[in-house]
Amino acid sequence: MKAALLTSFQREFQILDIDPKLEMDDVLLNVKATGICGRDLVIWKGGFANLKPPLILGHEIFGELDGLPKAVYPALNCGNCEYCRSNMENLCTSLSFLGENRFGGYAEQVAISRDSLLDLPDRDYEKYAATMCPIATAIHACKLVDVEDKKVLVTGAGGGVGIHAIQYLKLKGAKVIAITSEHKLKFVEKYADQAITEKAFSKIVKNVDVVFEIVGSATINESLRALKRQGTLVLIGNLEGNEISLQRPALFIMREHRIIGSAAYTKQDFKEALSIVSRYIDPYYTPYRLDQINDAYRDLLSNKIVGRGIIYF
Ligand SMILES: [Zn+2]
Repeated sequence: MKAALLTSFQREFQILDIDPKLEMDDVLLNVKATGICGRDLVIWKGGFANLKPPLILGHEIFGELDGLPKAVYPALNCGNCEYCRSNMENLCTSLSFLGENRFGGYAEQVAISRDSLLDLPDRDYEKYAATMCPIATAIHACKLVDVEDKKVLVTGAGGGVGIHAIQYLKLKGAKVIAITSEHKLKFVEKYADQAITEKAFSKIVKNVDVVFEIVGSATINESLRALKRQGTLVLIGNLEGNEISLQRPALFIMREHRIIGSAAYTKQDFKEALSIVSRYIDPYYTPYRLDQINDAYRDLLSNKIVGRGIIYF
């Protein structure tokens, strides 16, 4: 199979012919579309200390088995720890994703256990590759914090998670204030109640109940300034993968702010996402062929793409 191999961090992928690695009971899925997640970009930068190249990234995988359309639930969890036993497998103590310790979806085929496959209602693979991981992420975050009738600030609102998450937040009855880059405003405006560019947004936005912090280090201090007393910031992403510092700890204390992390999604969240995506979500993505993967990374890293970058086969 053709695959995009990452042989060292922050370098171009190499398109090579390699053999898929099957483990016991694995089946071979023919990949039709794979989304490029923010998590992939962090790995590419070398932000996951436990991972060593060569790697085949990609966990947002949709394809065919025996000619039938399938989604891949990408988390590989132990099934035995206290979290797995309580249906909180996203917190599994030995959690990894496909595309990390095992070869992922930047390849024509993926070896995967049948248990990880879910039926898709149609063959719109690119739509699923663009929206499933973002919507499952948003569903999980909304189980950690109440958003109904709340003012919710979303950073990175024009990116892959953002542009789909704001649609889900509207479904959940939130009032959405979206922060994004100038060139993505017109797309974000279609869904958000208010759309604002990144610069010093806390001068305009105040007293929000909840923040969906998708960008992380670059915006978190602005976000906290916009957060009301006893408000909650949900940390969903940290795109640069670097340290986050609290610029005004006194403000944080005086306002009794809370920061909680939201870790990916459970299989249940993923199943819920499947029914929502097919009915209610407009997908935003730019498709690339596998041999254009390096162009896709250049475009993503320079913040050009509205929504997801996806690879199609
Ligand atoms: Zn993802």
